[in-house]
Amino acid sequence: MLEWLGPWTLYGACPKFHSTLACCDTSVPGYSGCMRVYDCIRASPSSPPPPKIDNCTLGSIVQKGSPCSTDAVSRLSGQIAAEMGKLGVKLVPLSSDQKKHIECLYKEGCSGRMNPDALSSLVKVAKKKKKRITLKSMWRSAAQQYLLYRFHATGKCDQKYVVDRPGNSAHEGGAAIDVKRETVSTWAFALMTEHWKWPLPSSDPVHFAYQSTSKAHSKYSLIAFQRLWNRHNPESRIAEDGHYGKETEAALSKTPCKGW
Ligand SMILES: [Zn+2]
Repeated sequence: MLEWLGPWTLYGACPKFHSTLACCDTSVPGYSGCMRVYDCIRASPSSPPPPKIDNCTLGSIVQKGSPCSTDAVSRLSGQIAAEMGKLGVKLVPLSSDQKKHIECLYKEGCSGRMNPDALSSLVKVAKKKKKRITLKSMWRSAAQQYLLYRFHATGKCDQKYVVDRPGNSAHEGGAAIDVKRETVSTWAFALMTEHWKWPLPSSDPVHFAYQSTSKAHSKYSLIAFQRLWNRHNPESRIAEDGHYGKETEAALSKTPCKGW
């Protein structure tokens, strides 16, 4: 369970602190202290009240069908990307130079991260066409994939294109993009000549997958989520297998939008 620890000066007041925890690792915006699994602060009457954190969960977004942009879970996605890095899956953010050739619609949920080979290929395509390519989606975290998958399954947020189950999309491995619908014909040929597969499937015309990496790393996004969940919910551990089963589905639903 996450508990408010308060500012650093309070740590010494807790006798169990030094024996059970090394340091906090999740800062809370607007507070000088940290959040961390903790079991003794409740005994301290001088503890400050828990910070006010909104009660948004992935499940509540699906239930309300709002917000429809997966941008709502960008902080959690950043944590999943970092965890994927620990698993050896490299995702790189767009550099300022690459942004001259690639526009990522962050507010629409585009993460700005991608497999480095796929990203280089994309820059090459844009340079060849002498045009900036606009993307609605690049790498996608398992949390983002969950939202889109559930939006599609429940008929929310006008999610009409096919969505893979979490752990199964080439987006989650950082090897797929979605372009804007009206620009598909502009980019399709140029992308295909640079090893991007299309259409995949024909019912999802905005989607292109980078051939050499394709879905190889997809499940690691979900494994990264499962590892994070277990680290922050030791009392309700789930399998770290990259499989979207009932327990993982329930864990995703309960996960805070802002992560941990
Ligand atoms: Zn796609």
